[in-house]
Amino acid sequence: MDEKEYNRLWRKRNPERVKQYNKKNREKPGYSEYVKAYKKIWNKNNKHKHIKYYKKNKAKIIQRVTGWRWKNMDKVKKYSSKSVTKNRDRINTRARNRCRRIRIETLRHYGGKCTCCGENHMEFLSIDHMRGNGQKHRRENGISSIYDWLRKSNYPTKDFQILCHNCNLAKGFYGYCPHKKEKNKGG
Ligand SMILES: [Zn+2]
Ligand SMILES: [Zn+2]
Repeated sequence: MDEKEYNRLWRKRNPERVKQYNKKNREKPGYSEYVKAYKKIWNKNNKHKHIKYYKKNKAKIIQRVTGWRWKNMDKVKKYSSKSVTKNRDRINTRARNRCRRIRIETLRHYGGKCTCCGENHMEFLSIDHMRGNGQKHRRENGISSIYDWLRKSNYPTKDFQILCHNCNLAKGFYGYCPHKKEKNKGG
């Protein structure tokens, strides 16, 4: 019998002593930090054990966890709101990055530059609803992000084009973009 096995058996035979021992340890300063650090390393090195155990006992674990959750709704609510607060920054950053990625992807699909003046800095660009009812369109379809919607709808080319914010605002305020007027004058 090796030491490990011996210790295991001893612990099994003397649960009271183990309890006492653990209690004493918990009172030592810095002990909980030590255990936390140790567990972190152990978990990192023994991921496969966790996975194996989970696969083997999946049904049991799920049942136990759901049972616990139902019985401890208050705690669950508290924990989840706590973790949301804790992770809010990370969640926000991730959402923002996703939005940007989709925006750039969509703009690229529509040519990546202003249809009117050729501005191609993506920070200046926006999607223009050509028939001028973008707000109505968004409201009717319950769209929070036009980029998401265009992507999901497979980038419809009818009715949509890229305009830079300048051209878009001019069109919105005056019904035309001065660029167009200049062009007409010159030509
Ligand atoms: Zn423009
Ligand atoms: Zn323009």
